Order: sequence, then structure tokens, then C-alpha cells
Amino acid sequence: MGHSNRRQIMKPPRVLIAGLFHETHTFLDGSTGLADFSVLRGDAMLACSGDSSPLGGVLDFGNQQGWQWLPAVDYRAQPSAIVEDSAFEAFWQDCRSEAEASCKDQAPDAIYLILHGAMASRSILDIEGEFLRRLRALPLFAQAPIFGVFDLHANLSQEMISFCDHLVGYRENPHSDARDAAILSARMLDRHLRGEPRPLQRLKTLPIIWPPTGTASADEPMRQLNLMARQMEQRPGLWTLSIVPGFAFADTPDTGLSLLATGSDASAMQACLEELAAYAQAHREQGNRVDPPLESVAELLRRPPPGLSVLVEPSDNIGGGAPGDGTGLLRAMLQADTPNAAICLCDPAAVAAAMKAGEGSHLCLGLGGKGSRLDAGPVELEVQVLSLKPGRFKLEDPNSHLASMCGDHFDMGPCALLQHRGITLLVTSIKTPPFDLGQWRSQGVEPREKSIIVVKAAVAHRRVYDPIAARMLWVDSPGPCRSRLNELPFRHRRRPCYPLDAEA
Ligand SMILES: [Zn+2]
Repeated sequence: MGHSNRRQIMKPPRVLIAGLFHETHTFLDGSTGLADFSVLRGDAMLACSGDSSPLGGVLDFGNQQGWQWLPAVDYRAQPSAIVEDSAFEAFWQDCRSEAEASCKDQAPDAIYLILHGAMASRSILDIEGEFLRRLRALPLFAQAPIFGVFDLHANLSQEMISFCDHLVGYRENPHSDARDAAILSARMLDRHLRGEPRPLQRLKTLPIIWPPTGTASADEPMRQLNLMARQMEQRPGLWTLSIVPGFAFADTPDTGLSLLATGSDASAMQACLEELAAYAQAHREQGNRVDPPLESVAELLRRPPPGLSVLVEPSDNIGGGAPGDGTGLLRAMLQADTPNAAICLCDPAAVAAAMKAGEGSHLCLGLGGKGSRLDAGPVELEVQVLSLKPGRFKLEDPNSHLASMCGDHFDMGPCALLQHRGITLLVTSIKTPPFDLGQWRSQGVEPREKSIIVVKAAVAHRRVYDPIAARMLWVDSPGPCRSRLNELPFRHRRRPCYPLDAEA
């Protein structure tokens, strides 16, 4: 055989890579515009190799295999309100032109996508499905196998699945395995590139919506569903199974629990989906986790028991898109005159006022309560300014949920550390999901030394707080990420659906 044929075989696969990552909370005030996205274009994407993000994982794996990268764009934003149509259109134009430029008019051998899976704009409720449809409509990208990864909180659609070949979701919540999940799908792509036929995909959606508090992978029913899925993946004809509880705070027809199978044997895949669906239906109450009222912690706030009590306020869950400035639990602490407590709020105006006053000074502030109409509004408070510092910090935990979103560093913006009686307030200029203790330590606060820390999260904080907490208590307060789903004004969701419709 001639030299050219051998070169053909040895030629590294050309893999187009792109990212689009946003968890859209459609019940929040305001909107998410283009300026809210951080954007990597072309070769700048390749610099993420070696970091803790899913993109970093795929790049590392592909580099080991000698893949030739054709980078397009990576757009990502923190969870927030409905996306403006213009932001998605700008992404699409940018992605298309960068992808075409990278490919130089030659179709890629494969496409790899890093997605969230729960992105919605005002007129497109299934952004990922629309993105894939548009990609497939371009002759250059009509044929290449499309593989990729998505977040466990994705609201998967049939359209999304029909336009691609192999997707895998994170298995863990908190998302300690985002990078691993990305590598898993890349490994499956490698299988295909080395000669196995394209995998089949089957999606099963269920009439179940669980609040985020019910989607922890350490708790039932997610724990058992994942165990079953891991065993089923050993069956012949199966490649991967993803248990996808979805993102409840999104008013779309795709919102809710879905199950995704990939493999080579459609009937074996279908059998797995049916077994998993039956289990989920039978145990659906376990996932409907609603939090106890603020009064349930009144005594603890007055006299904290020994050890660190972590109080979780899911209604202001930053990782779910809430503003992180809710005052519900803060008000309860002030009323109880809680000793030795710490809370973090995002309030750039308060930081600016503290900076104007200077370190060591005392001032009166209207703190928090500005980000959601569901909150009671700012709390008037006299505080002392303990310190003023920049907020960029290196993540202590490279496998944290935060790393799945931002890589190795996070920037809280300018920060003010304030004190009011027994309460230490870390006030940031950028809302900061409480998924890494570097947030506190970089500002001079040791969380282990506190009696009470308030955490604005649902589940994802547990990876860092479980090891240091003597106890962890969830409480219900006003805010946009409340676990009581029946208080949300859904219009587009599945019907009937548990727990919202009696007939489900
Ligand atoms: Zn998630």
C-alpha cells in the first residue's frame, strides 16, 4: 500500500469543539444579556487544558489521543434570569463563523459540545435543541458525529437528542464529576472514531418535577437510580445511562426528570429506561423535598449548640440563579441576636459605601434585599468595616461544583467584611455560589471557628460544608428558589405532572 494511504489512517481526527452553558431560571426578575456571558474564542479555548472544568477534561483527553482541535467558541454565564433572544443570536453568529473559520471548509471528523442543557430565551424555550438544529442544517456540520456533556440539571428535549449522537450528564450533585463526565463522553467518541458504529440514543421523559433540594446524588431517590444505572451500564449493548432530574425553576415543556440511554442495542436500552422510570415513579415523593419554616431554627439562632451549624437557605440559592442578597434568614438572626455567626451577601452598593467609609469605620447601611421582589427589602444595619479586599481567590477544591462552572479561580469582585454584634457579614460585589471555603479564608474568616454559617444553596455546598459541619439544617424563607413548586406560575410545563397536579 502506498504511503498516502497510511497517512490517511494515521491522520489525527479533526474535532470541532464548542461550549454553551447557562441554567436559565425563568421566574427571576430581569434578563440575561450578552454582557453576562464570559466568552472564549478560538485558540483561547485551548488554554483551558489542564483546568478542572469539563472543557479542560475534554482537552486533556483529546490531547492524549492526538486529536486536532478546531475550536469555535465557549459561552458561559452563571445561572440567572431568562436569556435575551439577541444574546443567543449573537452566540450563534459567533459560533458559526469561528467554527467555519477553524474548519477551513473541510467538514470535521467529529463535534464535541459542552452544554448545560437548561437554557431558555424569551422566544426559544429549548436553546440547546435549537442550537443543534441550526448546526445540523449547515452542510459543513450535517454529517459529523456530535458528542458532548451536559449538567445533571438539564431539561433534556427530544429535539436536542435527535440532532446529536452521544450525550452524557454529570452523575454527581454536587457536581464533583463534571470533568469526569466530559471525559466519559470523549472516551465514547474515541470508541467511535476507532471504528465502532455511531451509538443510538433513547430519551424517556417523566411527568415528575423535583425541586433542586430533591436532586442530591447522596439522597434518595437519586442515589438508588444512579446505582441501578451503573449496574445496567454493564449490560451488553449499553454505553451510558444518565439520570437527569432537570431544573425545576424553568417554565418550559421539557422541565423535569428525564432518563437518557446510549448504546448499540435499542431494545436493551429501552428495557433499562423502563426499569429506571418505574423506580422513579414509585419513589417520586422522596424527591419532593420541601424545607421547614424559619421558626424551626429560632432556638438554635438564640443559643447555638457546640460545633458549626450550617443553615441552608435554598430560596436564595445562588447556584440556581437567585440574587444571593436575600434577607430572610439574616432577619431571623438579627431578631435572635445570634452570636458568632457569618453570612455572605452580594451587594455591590453596600461594598461601595463601605469602601467610601474606609476600614475600621462605623456606618449605617441598607443591606441586601435588592435582587428579588419576593424579598422583604434591604435591612437597615449599623456595621463596622473590618476589612476591604479584592475578591479573586483560588479554589481550594479543584473538584468542586464551582470548578465545573469556572475552572480554578473565582472573582467575587471587591469585598467588604463587616461586623454587626455577633454577625460577621462578607459582602461581595459579584454573587458567589458557596461551593468553596476559599471564599471565606481568602477574606480572613475561618469557617470552622463559627457557630453558625448561612449558606445560600440547595445541595451543591455539601461537598465542602459536610466535612466541617456538626449539623446542617434547611429552612424555608421568601425568595425565587423556594422548594414549594406550587407557588411558581408555570404556563408551559408538562401536564399532568407530580407534585403539581392531583391527577399525576
Ligand atoms: Zn447543575
